Amino acid sequence: MAKLPIVKIGDPVLQVRAQEVPKITKKIAKLIDDMIETMYEANGVGLAAPQVGVSQRIIVVDPGEGPVALVNPVIQSAQGEDIDVEGCLSIPERWVYVKRATEIEVTGLNEKGKPVRIMAEGYFARALQHEIDHLDGILMLDRSLGEASVEELEEAEEQEPSESLELQVGEGE
Ligand SMILES: [Zn+2]
Repeated sequence: MAKLPIVKIGDPVLQVRAQEVPKITKKIAKLIDDMIETMYEANGVGLAAPQVGVSQRIIVVDPGEGPVALVNPVIQSAQGEDIDVEGCLSIPERWVYVKRATEIEVTGLNEKGKPVRIMAEGYFARALQHEIDHLDGILMLDRSLGEASVEELEEAEEQEPSESLELQVGEGE
C-alpha cells in the first residue's frame, strides 16, 4: 500500500462528475488499498477517489469497525434529516454544518466486485453522503449552513456508534 497525495479545493477534479468503474481490475483494487491507507494516515473517516486525483466512482469509509470500500455507490433511499458538523480532507481547517438524511440505503460493489447493500444511520450515513457527493463534484461548502469549530466536529464524530451498520454482500446475485 502507498499513501497518496490528497487533492485540495480549487482543483477541477473535485468539481466534475466522476466516471463509473466498468470493472474491478488489479489497478482498481490497488487504488482502493491506497485510498484506505491514505484515509487512515490523514485521520479521515472517509475518502473519495477524486480526492486523490482519480475521477472514478470509488469511496472508502470507516464506520468505526474497519474500512468499507464501495465502487459505483448509489443511494437507493434516504429518510430523516439532521444538521451536524463535517470536515473534509480536501478543505483543510474548515468545518461546516450540513443537513443530511439520517438513514440511507446504499448499493454498489465491494473491492472484490461483489454487489453489496449497506443500511447506514447517523454519522456513518452522513460520511457516506459526503463521500458520494464528491463523486458528483459536490463539496460540503456547496451545502454549508454555517461554519463550525473543530471541537464541534469532534463531538459530532463521537456521537454515533458503528452498530448502525448493516452490510449485506452478494445481494442481487
Ligand atoms: Zn470531503
